Amino acid sequence: MLFYGGGFWTYFLFVGLPIMALSLLASNWVKRTYARYSQVRNSSGLSGVEVARRLLTNSGLSHVQVQVIDGDLTDNYDPRTKTLNLSRSVAAGTSVASEAVVAHEIGHAQQDALGYAPMRFRSGLVPAANLGSQLGPMIVMVGLVLSWITRGAASLGFYVAFFGLLLFTAVVLFQLVTTPVELNASHRALGLLRDSGAIFPEEQEGARRMLRAAAFTYWVALLGGILTLLYYASLVMGSRRNN
Ligand SMILES: [Zn+2]
Repeated sequence: MLFYGGGFWTYFLFVGLPIMALSLLASNWVKRTYARYSQVRNSSGLSGVEVARRLLTNSGLSHVQVQVIDGDLTDNYDPRTKTLNLSRSVAAGTSVASEAVVAHEIGHAQQDALGYAPMRFRSGLVPAANLGSQLGPMIVMVGLVLSWITRGAASLGFYVAFFGLLLFTAVVLFQLVTTPVELNASHRALGLLRDSGAIFPEEQEGARRMLRAAAFTYWVALLGGILTLLYYASLVMGSRRNN
């Protein structure tokens, strides 16, 4: 049976573990960069909420609501309610870190206002991706077990596993679209900060470093998703061949 055999351990050692280590490294890098630039005061002396209002007005997005929410680095832009949700520390902070996070989320608000296609595509993928991440791997395993029990007498097991694989593909597709959406939002963020005229070159560098660290986490997630999908695909196709 494939997932009790060498396949699983090869996957675990050469994909699972390195991806886990890279994810830890990535989230650590984000936290460290955020902590570092939280200590650097921005030159305008404005808080996150004030920076948000200024950038929103500058970019003709005054209709976007600004709301303070709980949690750390939970900041997001909700395109359904046109709301910019800022975590408490970002909202109150007068640091370079705060303004970088705020500008990045306004980058998303700008994408939404311009009908940026990858963002719309990503929003459409959310239900399938949620379903795929919760049920995809489980359905693949159920299909493989079924295929093993029936010793390939019926191809039902293969089709079940294949269906699980398709569901999981939605997750990877979501990650694939997320990467350009996030990189584009960060690119817009730097432009917004520069155009606001209230940022010094060394501040710009700090914001750039923070956004680069954040981008790395998306690349790692994408890599992990693609490799996991390939692993599942090899299991499903392998079960077909063994039949
Ligand atoms: Zn983002």
